[in-house]
Amino acid sequence: MTERGDDAAFRAEVATWFSGHAPAKGSAEDFSAVHIVSAGTADDFRERESHAMEVTRAWQRQLHGAGWAGRSWPQEYGGQGAPAWQAHAIAEEQTRYGVSTKMLAIALEMVPPVLLEHGTEEQCRAHLPVIVRGDEAWCQLLSEPDAGSDLGNVQTLATWVGGGWTVSGQKVWTSGAVSADYALLLARTDRSDPGRGGVSFFALDMRQAAVTVRPLRQMSGGYHFNEVFLDDAFVPESALIGGLGGGFAVLRTMLTSERAAIGGGTSARSAAQLRSMAEETGRAGEPTVRQEVVRAHTRERLLDLVMSRAASIPAAGPITKLLYSEHARLSANAALEILGPSSLIADDPLSEPWLDRFLFAPGLRLGGGTDEIQRNTIAERGLGLPREPRLT
Ligand SMILES: Cc1cc2nc3c(=O)[nH]c(=O)nc-3n(C[C@H](O)[C@H](O)[C@H](O)COP(=O)(O)OP(=O)(O)OC[C@H]3O[C@@H](n4cnc5c(N)ncnc54)[C@H](O)[C@@H]3O)c2cc1C
Repeated sequence: MTERGDDAAFRAEVATWFSGHAPAKGSAEDFSAVHIVSAGTADDFRERESHAMEVTRAWQRQLHGAGWAGRSWPQEYGGQGAPAWQAHAIAEEQTRYGVSTKMLAIALEMVPPVLLEHGTEEQCRAHLPVIVRGDEAWCQLLSEPDAGSDLGNVQTLATWVGGGWTVSGQKVWTSGAVSADYALLLARTDRSDPGRGGVSFFALDMRQAAVTVRPLRQMSGGYHFNEVFLDDAFVPESALIGGLGGGFAVLRTMLTSERAAIGGGTSARSAAQLRSMAEETGRAGEPTVRQEVVRAHTRERLLDLVMSRAASIPAAGPITKLLYSEHARLSANAALEILGPSSLIADDPLSEPWLDRFLFAPGLRLGGGTDEIQRNTIAERGLGLPREPRLT
């Protein structure tokens, strides 16, 4: 099918803008992995995370100024009201450059579908116009010590106190909680229903004293995520999303966007960086190194092809998430092979980003739902195989 003239003109306009404003992948200004923040101490983590947020906000403001941000969101909520294909064209172009909006991923990619499908007019007006300018960061308070894949088991309790709820409990593995202004929160509102029907979804203000964020030290020695303690935190009635007991319908919308967003990230496109790193080490001409670079390019091309057909593939989100996490793992392994023993030097500017990616790769197979859960979803929703028995 040939592209219509106006479609091609739009894509050309986007391409021209990006080539004039965005740093190239693999260049010294490349910040496509800025969101993969690791650090040796909790203070260093907070500092690096805050720097990553500043870099991301500056880029989001540029996108907004150029009219590319919130391209397909309704105009009354700060968007451009353009067709969805234009937003996809912009996102696709963005993956080719050394840029990232992933520090704001939850705000930009998960909150809008959630609010547009399940939120109230007031919630959309309060948050979307601020989010589109990069001025509001969100995190997700879903997982708990005893509820990860099975979120029907969340124990964090929201108690009605008139005018709103007080919420108490512990959340864990929360990415971005340190810099978040708001959280998408899943909490139990009905103690008498121990399963999915007893949970609801909220927009929680993270900047209240009843919310304690504690960075978690990982086995790599670094910090990426946090545990979050809610001690009678307050959510007003107006912050309930999707109705009382409707938490799982909202969650499904959010997870679908999350999986697609993870697979479509700019840091997933690392083949160009692999090539420039191989050139810098002087090993780019070696046949085995060339093979690794070509393999990485091929995986990216496959990912792009699946992404471009996403709208017509059932369970496209889980498929792209699986492809992406596998690609990230294989590319980081290849990078460490190419770097050789120097890859173990943490402060070396050439090896440090790859060491971070290598240590982050196993987590990608868990975050946003584990590989096993993605495969279950592909089997059930994509292939129509019998559903897993549900306990709740
Ligand atoms: C990098 C990263 C970022 C994250 N960010 C966030 C965040 O921002 N907010 C948040 O709330 N959470 C976050 N998480 C948590 C993540 O969502 C959970 O780790 C994940 O859902 C798995 O839950 P769990 O760790 O409790 O493992 P479990 O659910 O206990 O699973 C343990 C093992 O059992 C397998 N398993 C479980 N159920 C099934 C099943 N039905 N069929 C087959 N196998 C099964 C799993 O695949 C896994 O291998 C993040 C995790 C990572 C690694």
